Amino acid sequence: MADQLRFDNQVVVVTGAGGGLGKAYATFFASRGASVVVNDLGGSFKGEGGDSKAADVVVNEIKAAGGKAVANYDSVENGDRIIDTAIKAFGRIDVLINNAGILRDISFKNMKDLDWDLVMKVHVKGSYKCARAAWPYFRKQKYGRVINTASAAGLFGNFGQANYSAAKLAMVGFTETLAKEGAKYNIICNVIAPVAASRMTETVMPPDLLALMKPEWVVPLVAVLVHKNNTSESGAIFEVGGGHVAKLRWERSGGLLLKCDSSYTPGAVLKKWDRVTDFSDPQYPSGPNDFITLLEDSQKLGPSEQ
Ligand code: NAD
Repeated sequence: MADQLRFDNQVVVVTGAGGGLGKAYATFFASRGASVVVNDLGGSFKGEGGDSKAADVVVNEIKAAGGKAVANYDSVENGDRIIDTAIKAFGRIDVLINNAGILRDISFKNMKDLDWDLVMKVHVKGSYKCARAAWPYFRKQKYGRVINTASAAGLFGNFGQANYSAAKLAMVGFTETLAKEGAKYNIICNVIAPVAASRMTETVMPPDLLALMKPEWVVPLVAVLVHKNNTSESGAIFEVGGGHVAKLRWERSGGLLLKCDSSYTPGAVLKKWDRVTDFSDPQYPSGPNDFITLLEDSQKLGPSEQ
């Protein structure tokens, strides 16, 4: 039964676990038998400063409840040190939850290189460095589970978040590739776009909405995805928050094949715009070869009338 999922003898690394969603993951996995690395730099939500207290408080809470946890205060940019902490303290790593994040929201017109670079550094480089350091262990033991953290801002765009949107959609491509490369080694990677009340959202959402979005309500999906029994979902995108859990996928319009001769002009594309954008007979591609197969199939049928 789902509510009995256990993580005994497993080592879980949670980045950015000093508060918000990360803390909810860390305390949950510890309460279900895992040994947890509680990583947090302890900086501001804009990525400034640092303090070991954030991780220490969570470790102390876990230990007080009888669980096993160790703190790590490195920035995720030094992911190898975070994974080292897991190996030194517990001798292995089974699950990596790339959760640490910052915001540098500002309109694109006013965005500075620093706003772009810091967001890329924490979300993209940080997730890469942690996963890269865990990868050899996962491959060797033929077991690994990764959660990367995207955002609706990355999937759909959001005003004032060009940097964050770019970084968060990067998590989708990253996850989809890791899932493909990891499959042979029983390494499963999925990506979530969560919604939860945290210091990140407390200034942008009204209190009544925040009350419906406890970080703890994102945890059950993550637990299912990183559990050893999950052997089917990998490379998938989920939206989760306030108790709602849903899977997303890419959708391609039916489109059409145009004849590649002198008639293939911008005007010819424009003439067929309704067909280009017609989703009444959609396809759900899942790999780069999908388009090649589509092309081969449609070439067999010949181009649509121009
Ligand atoms: P949060 O600010 O409470 O937690 C993020 C944690 O990451 C903080 O404790 C922070 O100290 C830590 N951190 C920041 N930079 C770090 C670094 N370089 N190294 C290590 N730790 C670092 O925010 P949250 O809402 O819990 O966010 C968790 C994740 O979920 C983030 O990736 C965020 O972008 C994503 N997310 C959250 C929401 C939401 O509604 N809360 C929505 C979409 C995406």
